[in-house]
Amino acid sequence: CFITFEGPEGSGKTTVIEHIKNVLSETHDIVKTREPGGIPISEKIREVLLDKEHSMDGRTEALLFAASRRQHLVERVIPALDAGKIVLCDRFIDSSLAYQGIARGIGFDDIMAINKFAIDTYMPDLTIYLKLDPAEGLQRIKDNQRENNRLDEETIDFHKKVVLGYNKLSELYPNRIKVVDAAQPIDKVVSDAANIINNYIQS
Ligand code: C5P
Ligand code: MG
Repeated sequence: CFITFEGPEGSGKTTVIEHIKNVLSETHDIVKTREPGGIPISEKIREVLLDKEHSMDGRTEALLFAASRRQHLVERVIPALDAGKIVLCDRFIDSSLAYQGIARGIGFDDIMAINKFAIDTYMPDLTIYLKLDPAEGLQRIKDNQRENNRLDEETIDFHKKVVLGYNKLSELYPNRIKVVDAAQPIDKVVSDAANIINNYIQS
């Protein structure tokens, strides 16, 4: 079972996924991973992507995200799925559709096309979308003094478009993408996400 976590900066993906892993580990075999990264080649591509010293063309960026995704999928996700494990992944194709497709303006269809090439038939079974006002997410990151190289480059308008992109995706794929209100206290966000996942696993 392949479960992905999506949402804008500061929506709590990394924190929520860690809690969910701890809860599900009692009863299931779990692999927790992230994009872009998770394995050496993809972590290297991540470094190139997040390096702000060199400005990058939007299509190059989109291709690198897709390349990183492919390698991570082949090396990490597919073997875990084949072994019957539950894979929890921090970001996947919806990040590219929202960030590069919509916010960066490359276009939904082109991003879908290169990602279809990258992932073939491996779509997530379930996606938890942590929905949050982008201004609130950015404030959380400031409060935590968390470093995020990309953030320095992008305007609030960019992040608003990311959220519009995610909203559109959740309307397009309501069966796969489940929305959780990430403005709630973290315990409630985790329990909402856990309930959705448990319902899915049991059905
Ligand atoms: O949130 P995370 O640490 O996974 O993402 C790293 C950075 O990469 C974020 O600042 C995010 O804006 C950016 N990103 C992106 N396009 C994607 C995925 C992530 O610009 N498809
Ligand atoms: Mg994170």
